[in-house]
Amino acid sequence: MRSMVKAKHFDARDDGRVHCTLCPHLCTIADGRVGTCGVRKNEKGALYTAIYGEVTGMAMDPIEKKPLYHFYPGSSILSIGTKGCNFRCAYCQNWHISQDAGARSSYYAPADIVKAALDNGSVGIAFTYSEPFIWFEYVQDCARLAREKGLKNVYVTNGYINPAPLDEILEYADAMNIDLKAFREDTYRKVQKGTLAPVLETIRAAHGRCHVELTTLVVTGMNDSMDEMREMIDWIAALDPKIPWHISRYHPSYKYDAPATDVDFIYRVCAEAAKKLSFVYCGNISRAGNFEDTKCPSCGATVIERRGYRVRITALRGGTCTACGHDLGIRQ
Ligand code: SF4
Repeated sequence: MRSMVKAKHFDARDDGRVHCTLCPHLCTIADGRVGTCGVRKNEKGALYTAIYGEVTGMAMDPIEKKPLYHFYPGSSILSIGTKGCNFRCAYCQNWHISQDAGARSSYYAPADIVKAALDNGSVGIAFTYSEPFIWFEYVQDCARLAREKGLKNVYVTNGYINPAPLDEILEYADAMNIDLKAFREDTYRKVQKGTLAPVLETIRAAHGRCHVELTTLVVTGMNDSMDEMREMIDWIAALDPKIPWHISRYHPSYKYDAPATDVDFIYRVCAEAAKKLSFVYCGNISRAGNFEDTKCPSCGATVIERRGYRVRITALRGGTCTACGHDLGIRQ
């Protein structure tokens, strides 16, 4: 089967079990069984990825949809995803692919994906919709080929990966949007069925090696506390106050039926964040007000206007504000 490809990052044990070292779950997997992500399988004492080339969705998306607001604003990117996930968020919006390793998919060789990106005039390839890091072998083959052809590689990820494979991903990564789902170990343990510390490590490691933006979905009853948000803001500000932070509104989905996040709370978090961070954006709200456009932190000029996914560059050239010359670090 062409989607079963020998995996990277595992140790074979004498007793026939394998130890996967791709993500912090560090699953020990018996012969014939899969790991927590549901897509890495022990076949006779070796680990295989069951999803090499298995694509559940492919579309040309506005890059703002990833969301990436400071990376080739206004461009479109070929976006692909697979199935399976190493997290178990009860409110997942893409649960039909992330939580179903048997979800329908079609096989595409890496060369097919790169050709589709080039044929469609895409700025690059976005690995998105489900968790790209557990698609490691395929993502790496696509990204290597994409880089050779001058395309950019974008990852929309939960950040749950071990340092060694992350280092390999970063060789070909141009941009990442990393989810910071909560700022409590307890929440990550109970809701995501993972841990927070490795996600923070991923953000630290990626920052400086590729363009990074962060997203936090504020979920009713999970992380909608101003104390927790302030801790998150302080952590991001200490790393780099210029990292764009997308604060997004939750809507009921999958197994989680608490009411949608209070809009006023989202606005208050945005206002609080804007005291310490240069670029704060509000997502999943029809009128994001002051938190939709990009403003120059030096002179206040609006450099990019956004209405939904419609983008108008108003005062930006080569990533610099044309009104005052301030370098905003935006890739253009
Ligand atoms: S990538 Fe999958 S199999 Fe490997 S450690 Fe993580 S959850 Fe387990």
